[in-house]
Amino acid sequence: MALIKFTNRGIYCKQGNFYIDPWHPVDYAVTTHGHADHVKWGNKNYLCHDLTKPILKQRYGLEDNVQTLPYNKEIDINGVKLSLFPAGHVIGSSQIRLEYKGEICVVSGDYKVEYDGISTAFEPVKCHTFVSESTFGLPIYNWQPQELIFEQIKSWIADNCIKGKTSILVAYSLGKAQRLIKNLAGEYPIYVHNSIANLNEGFAEAGVELPQTIRITPEIKKDEMQKGIVIIPPALADGRWVKSLQQPAIGVCSGWMAVRAGRRWRSADAGFALSDHADWGGLLSAIKATEAEKVFVTHGSTAVFSKYLNEIGISSEEVTTKYGAEDDDEIIGEANENPLKEESK
Ligand SMILES: [Zn+2]
Ligand SMILES: [Zn+2]
Repeated sequence: MALIKFTNRGIYCKQGNFYIDPWHPVDYAVTTHGHADHVKWGNKNYLCHDLTKPILKQRYGLEDNVQTLPYNKEIDINGVKLSLFPAGHVIGSSQIRLEYKGEICVVSGDYKVEYDGISTAFEPVKCHTFVSESTFGLPIYNWQPQELIFEQIKSWIADNCIKGKTSILVAYSLGKAQRLIKNLAGEYPIYVHNSIANLNEGFAEAGVELPQTIRITPEIKKDEMQKGIVIIPPALADGRWVKSLQQPAIGVCSGWMAVRAGRRWRSADAGFALSDHADWGGLLSAIKATEAEKVFVTHGSTAVFSKYLNEIGISSEEVTTKYGAEDDDEIIGEANENPLKEESK
């Protein structure tokens, strides 16, 4: 009997009686990571990695009903052996490994194979059944090594400085923002939006060291920010506050920037193809490393990707889930807590 089932509440393990990243409230939810499309409020109990707990606390006020596990530690849930392995996507992100009577299934959540210097590096796990995302599951997506992207970002910032422009980087609050902070720290002060500052505080409490940043408040002068780096979430990219800064130059950091059609932010001056998801080659190498007999593809370019897997002899099937809109949810959440609204009236 299969270890997981795709139901209208989410991915269900009947033998263990729990769900993985359910999108409707359930009694027991195993959470792969803290992005909004993978965490819904209202479950009775949550199980996640130690470092996902501060995210659930900060973003959803969840604490008492959150049980945690480190990577590689096995627990037993109704006879199902469950353990977490690093997914390399954002801090605390996990692949969920299930084992029952010799049958092994791994649900990867979102993942990337390149080590980003801050999220624990992705680890392939051998299994019979693998559940994979395919956000960038098209051959046109081939990331450059992140060192090269950061070189591009740094020279863009230096150029802005010379021209008296304010460098504004648009990045998701969870994942991308911390990567930028870690890799750009040193030369310029880094100013961050509240949503990023709050998460960083959560990480600091949990023992994750990040370079010093400055929370953006209405008191911070615009000419100060012009001499530094400003990091904001996508919700604010097109806003009036950004336009009110001194000669704003907006650089969007997203895998979608790899193709012209993906440049959906009208106001972007520069696009940097930096992603927290695996590219085409990354997805394929990760899947091959699992040696799985069956691969379920959950979100992104599912049709093309799944078809390709079948063509190369890996039995695959698309499944419909509610994952993939993590960023839009974040936008709604953050628009309401914009600390800069006094200025953007
Ligand atoms: Zn995610
Ligand atoms: Zn996702």
